[in-house]
Amino acid sequence: MEYIEFTRGPKHIALVAHDNKKQEMLEWARYNRELLAQHQLYATGTTGRLLEQALEVEVVKLQSGPLGGDQQIGAKIAESEIDLLIFFWDPLEAQPHDPDVKALLRIAVVWNIPVACNRASADFVISSPLMLGEYERRLPDYEAHRERLTTEMAA
Ligand code: PGA
Repeated sequence: MEYIEFTRGPKHIALVAHDNKKQEMLEWARYNRELLAQHQLYATGTTGRLLEQALEVEVVKLQSGPLGGDQQIGAKIAESEIDLLIFFWDPLEAQPHDPDVKALLRIAVVWNIPVACNRASADFVISSPLMLGEYERRLPDYEAHRERLTTEMAA
């Protein structure tokens, strides 16, 4: 059976920008400050500090990305604490934490949260009426996955 997560009103938004994308993230965030300020913001460490200074809004700052921040955001997504991911990853430079980048993108898809990986996508997402309206986020039925093997192996 499909599971539905119901959200309405302010969202929990996670923001991450690789170093070459931080300037673009700041420009985008400044432009959308009034919209972003209506939500609860989370970010990896450096991105979060820069956003707090630029926007003068509170940001929940996790570890810096390469030090585990991407994984912390992934864990929050798995625990339904994050509704939306704005992730400006750098397509032109390898990162020391490439596996974490891939894991974060993967877990966002597993839990069916919206992900914007560039400025145009972020523009579309932040201006959606669903940002403050009602939304029924559909989750696949993962019960079969959780239950797999357990009955036969326990027998
Ligand atoms: P940072 O991490 O915000 O701490 O720079 C971003 C990242 O590289 O994942």
